[in-house]
Amino acid sequence: MVERVGTLVVGGGIVGAAVAYYLTQEGEIDILLVEQNELASGSTGGSFGGVRQQFSTPHEIEFSRRGLEFWKTAGAVFDTAVPFFQTGYLLVTGQPEIMAKLHEAAQLQASMGLTDVHILDPEQLDQAAPWMNPEGLLGGCWTPGDGRVTPPDGVRALINAAKARGAQVREHWPVREIAPRDGQWLVSGPQEVEAQRVVVCAGYWSSQLMRPFGLDLTIRPYQLLGAISEPALPGQTVPLTIDLDTGFCVEREGQSLVLAILYEENPPGWSHERMLEEFAELARRRAPQLSELKVVRYTTGNVDLGGDGQPYVGEVEPGLWMAAGFGGHGTMHGPVVGKLLAQLMAGRPDPTLDISDLNPRRAPGAAG
Ligand SMILES: Cc1cc2nc3c(=O)[nH]c(=O)nc-3n(C[C@H](O)[C@H](O)[C@H](O)COP(=O)(O)OP(=O)(O)OC[C@H]3O[C@@H](n4cnc5c(N)ncnc54)[C@H](O)[C@@H]3O)c2cc1C
Repeated sequence: MVERVGTLVVGGGIVGAAVAYYLTQEGEIDILLVEQNELASGSTGGSFGGVRQQFSTPHEIEFSRRGLEFWKTAGAVFDTAVPFFQTGYLLVTGQPEIMAKLHEAAQLQASMGLTDVHILDPEQLDQAAPWMNPEGLLGGCWTPGDGRVTPPDGVRALINAAKARGAQVREHWPVREIAPRDGQWLVSGPQEVEAQRVVVCAGYWSSQLMRPFGLDLTIRPYQLLGAISEPALPGQTVPLTIDLDTGFCVEREGQSLVLAILYEENPPGWSHERMLEEFAELARRRAPQLSELKVVRYTTGNVDLGGDGQPYVGEVEPGLWMAAGFGGHGTMHGPVVGKLLAQLMAGRPDPTLDISDLNPRRAPGAAG
């Protein structure tokens, strides 16, 4: 006997968990979420968990506004602990054209009702990051109300709430194939399941799963190497700070810091050792106190980069839906987009936010 379900969700990251939960909120309870490994074992598990409002398109800013709200309130909304650490977010630059873009984006953010976006000149940077050397910088943009979360907390909260409403979850259940059969979808994995609807939320694996349906999505894993330092900058707030000119990146993690360099592509032969050598070099100029920090642990995560920079969200074939390709912003945007997709699937799209331009069959660059 083939098992039958109403909706099968592929992928137990933040997006799949959100879609499953918000579908239950729309009244659908015959849901099976399958995950090839363990929940939050993909990009979500490796994420730095930064939640920021600093984006430059109306869509992204609105996703961020709602995403910040999701993470700030999740601890109260769900029965599972979801701490939010309001450490802020700081982007700095010494390049006039990037500074102009930060100004422009801050104006757009303000025009959309965001009130705590602050453009800082070099002398004001110590308000946000007193440990930073402003030499060579033209300034930055600081959003003190932003913060960081531990994304698997959000997955756990959404999944527990979805299960409480009747959804089922199966880990170690890799989907091999999704194929149409008699007006339904036959999903083949360790067993076969027939579903009226399938939602692919498989992160950077989605490109491969969706190829048979004529989609060439190019979402790909980008390996981001990080390191956790010994306790550092005691008692000081450390916003998630990125020097946009060099990729120098630090983030608070308990008493410690996350250290990383954000490149568009990792240089050949990239390793934790090389990253830390370059980080120390950059820190000698930008944050001398951080240049000789001891490292207690390495981290490695695969970011869901690629595509045209906007997520692919919507119906691909009748009854086959997807949401993937968050370009490294899925922690903050995933829960929001998961909700919007669930509303769309239920035939009750959010009247205040149209996401039809994110349709996976769009022309490249047509979204946003
Ligand atoms: C190092 C790092 C730092 C980041 N920092 C931030 C940040 O500061 N802020 C931010 O917003 N975002 C950040 N991101 C990005 C964010 O983590 C992702 O955009 C987000 O987690 C994507 O969620 P997802 O559910 O789409 O994908 P995933 O979390 O990858 O989930 C997809 C799931 O699908 C499962 N799957 C795949 N194929 C199959 C199959 N065939 N069958 C069954 N299951 C399958 C996978 O195992 C996986 O668990 C970061 C990512 C990394 C790696």
